[in-house]
Amino acid sequence: VSAWASVPEGPPDAILGITEAFKADTNPHKVNVGVGAYRDDHGKPYVLPSVRAAEKKIFEAGSDKEYAGITGIPAFVKAAAVLAYGESSVPLKENRVSITQSISGTGALRIGGDFLSRFYPGEKTIYIPTPSWANHKAVFTDSGLTVKQYRYYDKNKIALDASGMLEDIKAAPNGSIILLHACAHNPTGIDPTPEQWKEISSVVKSKGHFAFFDMAYQGFASGDTNGDAFAVRHFVEEGHNVALCQSFAKNMGLYGERVGAFSLVCGSPEEKKAVDSQLKILIRPMYSNPPINGARIASQILNDPSLNQQWLGEVKGMADRIIVMRKSLKGALEKLGSQKDWSHITSQIGMFTYTGLTPEQVDRLAKEYSVYGTRDGRMSVAGMTSGNVEYLAEAIHKVAS
Ligand code: PMP
Repeated sequence: VSAWASVPEGPPDAILGITEAFKADTNPHKVNVGVGAYRDDHGKPYVLPSVRAAEKKIFEAGSDKEYAGITGIPAFVKAAAVLAYGESSVPLKENRVSITQSISGTGALRIGGDFLSRFYPGEKTIYIPTPSWANHKAVFTDSGLTVKQYRYYDKNKIALDASGMLEDIKAAPNGSIILLHACAHNPTGIDPTPEQWKEISSVVKSKGHFAFFDMAYQGFASGDTNGDAFAVRHFVEEGHNVALCQSFAKNMGLYGERVGAFSLVCGSPEEKKAVDSQLKILIRPMYSNPPINGARIASQILNDPSLNQQWLGEVKGMADRIIVMRKSLKGALEKLGSQKDWSHITSQIGMFTYTGLTPEQVDRLAKEYSVYGTRDGRMSVAGMTSGNVEYLAEAIHKVAS
């Protein structure tokens, strides 16, 4: 018999299944609000002009194709750290932030999970919000951490369950690892307010927990890269030596280039040196060193002042289009006479809206209206356009009433 005769077939990836069903649908009005990638107002993938300009510069410089070091391109990671922690970050000035390039945000999470699994001195249990990005549990479990959950979403209010969240974080054994979405929580689009972040920081500190941030949408939430970094910077100012995962998939539209970074704030430059060495030891047998092309593009954009300004404008343009679509969808539902409260559509931020639709309603949307979203009721606002938002509102109104 074949060596693989007893391999059981696993379930397909939920999101990829949606894309396949969407592609196979012949309805000209079909809408894909399943995928988490930005689309322009014509529903087309968008390559940022700043990215094109950076590519041109890199090509014209005639760069070679030599390997990067194990932790990536130094000019890139240095600029990525400043983007996240801020120009005036004390740990950066004190040279105690260890950072490595990663295979986008997912790779950063995996490096972080593996590092904590090896070296975290406390309980190796990470608490993730309910719900969270579907891949968190898999990444951390495969890293060897135990994954538990804390309350985050109040289904009835379609809002943050702030008291439930704080209670669960308090109830976790001292020294647990707490995963926090830095901004634009996926899938709910609901973030704590600055005041709530301050409270979360105090509770995490009083329990001696470790804050592990996933920041996949810096700039994408509000259009302002500094505003979106509030939580991370506040925690660092409060003395938390955080872990941080960054992705440039969304904010630079570099999805398939796989550009990201993982960093750990350390207690001293000596500690940073030891952590640097262990990150290299961890990464080397995994993939030896990261891809160079996307990191070169990001590095150009972050380090060239005029390209940087251009990029900040383009990030804001993407965020603003999403905000406009939120208003249009809510407005269209109201115009149709929907008696439901849709204010969460405009109060949520980032790429997604958590509509509150049930799995059965989502199934009807696909079957009767060719509208494809995930069964948890999440819809990608980036998949909405001025051309399809009214059709979408009609479909939602029909299945929701
Ligand atoms: N974290 C969150 C919360 C995400 O939503 C995503 C992307 N959907 C990622 C991490 C990682 O994405 P990537 O590996 O493409 O950077």
